[in-house]
Amino acid sequence: MKDVTKMERIGPHSHIHGLGLDANLEPRGNSQGMIGQGKARKAAGVILKMVQEGRIAGRAILIAGPPSTGKTAIAMGMAQTLGSDVPFVNLVGSEVFSLEMSKTEALTQAFRRAIGVRIKEETELIEGEVVEIQVDRSVTGATKTGRLTLKTTDMETVYDLGSKMIDQLQKEKVLAGDVISIDKTSGRISKLGRSFGRAKDYDAMGADTRFVACPDGELQTRKEVVHTVSLHEIDVINSRTQGFLALFAGDTGEIKPELRDQINEKVAEWREEGKAEIVPGVLFIDEVHMLDIECFSFLNRALESEMAPLVVMASNRGITRIRGTKYKSPHGIPGDLLDRMLIISTSKYSEDEIKEIVKIRGDEEDVKLGPDSLELLATMGGQTSLRYALNLIAPSQQIAIRRKNTQVEVDDIRLAYKYFLDVDRSASYARETSGMMFGEEEDVVTVTTA
Ligand code: ATP
Repeated sequence: MKDVTKMERIGPHSHIHGLGLDANLEPRGNSQGMIGQGKARKAAGVILKMVQEGRIAGRAILIAGPPSTGKTAIAMGMAQTLGSDVPFVNLVGSEVFSLEMSKTEALTQAFRRAIGVRIKEETELIEGEVVEIQVDRSVTGATKTGRLTLKTTDMETVYDLGSKMIDQLQKEKVLAGDVISIDKTSGRISKLGRSFGRAKDYDAMGADTRFVACPDGELQTRKEVVHTVSLHEIDVINSRTQGFLALFAGDTGEIKPELRDQINEKVAEWREEGKAEIVPGVLFIDEVHMLDIECFSFLNRALESEMAPLVVMASNRGITRIRGTKYKSPHGIPGDLLDRMLIISTSKYSEDEIKEIVKIRGDEEDVKLGPDSLELLATMGGQTSLRYALNLIAPSQQIAIRRKNTQVEVDDIRLAYKYFLDVDRSASYARETSGMMFGEEEDVVTVTTA
């Protein structure tokens, strides 16, 4: 249940930077790392609009489709598009069973992680403080936000620093989405590279390393400090048995329901006093068919709550058994829950689309693929699965390096294909050898292929 963007820096979806939609939510051809799957991307964009407008309580979405058709990629694209303080929580169905807590506690925590509480605090400017300065000027076509160390509380000097910042942004040709650092003493701006995550990740890179496109407003210092924390974080910080250090250890254990009730009351008070706002986020549950009937009934109930996040689920199963019962249903999800969901479907990619995705991944992994190699990987992807083709990129590069090739050639891929089986070849191998190797004649080998 980690924050996706932290996990995805060099992961399989690190090339995805959004849903690749234009202002009318129409999918662009090749944009933000996204190829094809236009209908599903557009549908996801509509849902995101609902999240951004806060009109999502009690909504559940299912992204259903065959394996490696971009269900997770679309969810990651949604995460990247959400604002930096809108929580996005990523969970795989089976994780609910592997944590050291009850299933429903794990789900409750996931729900509460996905609800942000935006807390406003009025503060005075203090010398020596790091402040955020929003600059609303067209600098290379985008509005900018930067951070400066405040040397004075004199507003004229602050404005002066802001204008210098604009000059620097222009000089350094900073574009929206670039990560910049601002030197504490000189105020000098340097480019660190392209954005790979959400604004809050930049904080991890150092106190004054930050860059986000900002909405509007004149050059202004923020005197109102806004923090967004999740309901779960508030729970943990206030838990006498856990304490806030548990947040760093990630081992938060079970939280008492009475404490949650108290927190809910407190947050409701803050809302009434205008001190806090609720920011419903997104809870993504991948491989949702791994949940069992108790989890599904919990979800059904939890979605009724006024403070429910948007729950996006994904499954690659067709008609399958609902875990914990003897009944079968579409995607292994009980009918009543399925009935309340909006369902987005993904379909298999064409070879051309696979080729484009392979190319993007090659660039992402810094692997040079010649035109023939791209063609071959696309054909293999079409015959096996997209994921198999993507998985072959890295080993093919290793083989190419050993053969002193500067780019991956067709022969390197052929060798990688020989070394590493795709699902179908592995299944036939298992069928041939079953019984011979492990004495498992009685067992039935079931393998799903793309
Ligand atoms: P499964 O059902 O097996 O979990 P999935 O539908 O979730 O599969 P993904 O994991 O999203 O599939 O896709 C497999 C790989 O292909 C990932 O690396 C993903 O980022 C990439 N990918 C899938 N679809 C697209 C797309 N439309 N554009 C760019 N990359 C994609």
